[in-house]
Amino acid sequence: MNPQELQLSLAHQNINLSDQQMAQLQQYFQLLVETNKVMNLTNITEESAVYVKHFYDSLTPMFYDQQLTQAVSVADIGTGAGFPGIVLKIANPKLHLTLVDSLNKRLNFLQQVVDQLQLSKVQLVHARAEEFGQQEQYRQQYDYVVARAVANLPVLLELCLPVVKQGGYFIALKGAQAETEMAAAKSALFKLGGQIERVEKLKLPQAAGERQLIWIKKVKSTPAKFPRKPGIPARNPL
Ligand code: SAM
Repeated sequence: MNPQELQLSLAHQNINLSDQQMAQLQQYFQLLVETNKVMNLTNITEESAVYVKHFYDSLTPMFYDQQLTQAVSVADIGTGAGFPGIVLKIANPKLHLTLVDSLNKRLNFLQQVVDQLQLSKVQLVHARAEEFGQQEQYRQQYDYVVARAVANLPVLLELCLPVVKQGGYFIALKGAQAETEMAAAKSALFKLGGQIERVEKLKLPQAAGERQLIWIKKVKSTPAKFPRKPGIPARNPL
């Protein structure tokens, strides 16, 4: 998928990117491949693959949820090189975005992206999600939390739901294995105060893969003991 094809595919989804936003994506692509030569950020480096597997893929939640085009607060947990958070921010400059990752070198890269693309209202937090979710200023504060390729759903729910506002959503960007993960997540959902409200299945263009997006609504406050200490959610899933 070349940049023009991305712009056209997004227009079909009512996401209209200006020339300036397209230029920001191109700058982001260049920074990603340049920095990737000296630090491991992604295995996907060919331009057409980055445009479909990182850029288009990151924006799929916006296809279904109009609220994401508004001035909502979003935390991207385990953002890595900025997916999906930075792409959502480029497409919707009104977002209040928090990017969280436990690897400081990735945060340094993201700071460069934020500076060079002149993105405002972006906060970078170097932390484990387990610590982030226990801090007063973040806990139950976000309209939306998003995560892609960080952990299985039962583990991911413990990392993400504690920072979602009551009535807000965690959107998990998943692959074809989502059904198995949802079946395993029943107990975690109950304990953390979440409820699966919506699942959307889609195929990325150009046979780039199947995706499932899961909207989990925060229906009850998450008990203070969650998330547990770093490493425990993965070692002993709820
Ligand atoms: N979300 C990005 C994407 O889709 O390309 C990055 C995915 S990468 C496979 C997983 C990222 O999650 C890594 O950058 C890793 O440092 C981060 N991560 C994993 N567990 C974490 C945790 N408990 N707290 C914070 N970050 C975490």
